[in-house]
Amino acid sequence: MAATKSKSKAAAKKAKKAKPASKKAASKPKAAKKAGAKAQPTKAAKAPKAKAPKEVLDFGGFPAGSVTRHEVTLCLSCIYKLFTNQLGLAPRTAYNEIRRYAPTVGELTAREPQRPFFKPSEEKNPRCPYCDAPKRWHARLSVYRVEGGKASDAARRALVKKLPTKDEQFLITEEKKTARQVFFEWLERLGQTLDFEEDAAWMPAAARAYLERREPQSDWAAAFEGARAVRRSQRLEEGWERDGSRLFLAPALYNDVLLVQYLVSRSHRHGGRTFEGRLTLPDLVGRMRRGGHLDAQGITDRDRFDVLEQLVEHLTGGDSPARLHFITDRRDLLDKVKDAYTRHAA
Ligand SMILES: [Zn+2]
Repeated sequence: MAATKSKSKAAAKKAKKAKPASKKAASKPKAAKKAGAKAQPTKAAKAPKAKAPKEVLDFGGFPAGSVTRHEVTLCLSCIYKLFTNQLGLAPRTAYNEIRRYAPTVGELTAREPQRPFFKPSEEKNPRCPYCDAPKRWHARLSVYRVEGGKASDAARRALVKKLPTKDEQFLITEEKKTARQVFFEWLERLGQTLDFEEDAAWMPAAARAYLERREPQSDWAAAFEGARAVRRSQRLEEGWERDGSRLFLAPALYNDVLLVQYLVSRSHRHGGRTFEGRLTLPDLVGRMRRGGHLDAQGITDRDRFDVLEQLVEHLTGGDSPARLHFITDRRDLLDKVKDAYTRHAA
């Protein structure tokens, strides 16, 4: 249980497109009511907006696909019992330790969270799966994973500068990885959000997510808007064009989309599915070879596993160094632990 480390500096204020990352901040009934009461009738619509607290975690200016969010619930009752019963801490000390608790990124992003963490529930009155504690003991922890890079570094620095430092509400950490690792983490996260039973939904969604990540400056929203089919273009050398409800992608983009679809779906039932149907590895490699995709990338291997490795190398950036930045939002933990201790002490 490490104490928190926060490196963010003094907060600076700047208005930005509001994109509330936390439900809590989005609805502050008391503040809204107050604002409403003071507002002039003619400006009623504008007043609450001006008075509502601005969400400081605003990723609106970040390149698409560079930020992913994980959320996990921490049971304060479980962690309190752990600290007092197993570690033998006095109640007051346990309370202070929980307030300073700095969960690791691994704990926050685990596919199967371990006690005292559990997956957020959609239920109205969720219970802790370990100790049955009701909702008031549940603290929501969010971690934002920001991929480093030319496009996102400036936005990230500006955001971190604005974050309040009081009580270490936000934790800033980073990890060094390879481009390949970062890509596959992103791909796994993408896979978790897709429903592989619905080809018509997940295939374009996967394609768009990949293209947004690869070329954030292009308007992929416009490209995919109302598109009913995605095809390989016979004439484009880069980018995309629309012909009615058909979206045409330059061959290099289209082929990489196929590879992404293959990779993201291969571990699922009826896996290895793409816009070109279900592909086995020989199918995929054959298609890439005939389409000139291997030549274009200088891939001369004959063995299909070697070819796949080379393709993945090109797709992901391979061993080139990459950096991941994490921003952990501890605000709900600080709120809830205060309530919990007040109740406990009473
Ligand atoms: Zn519990």
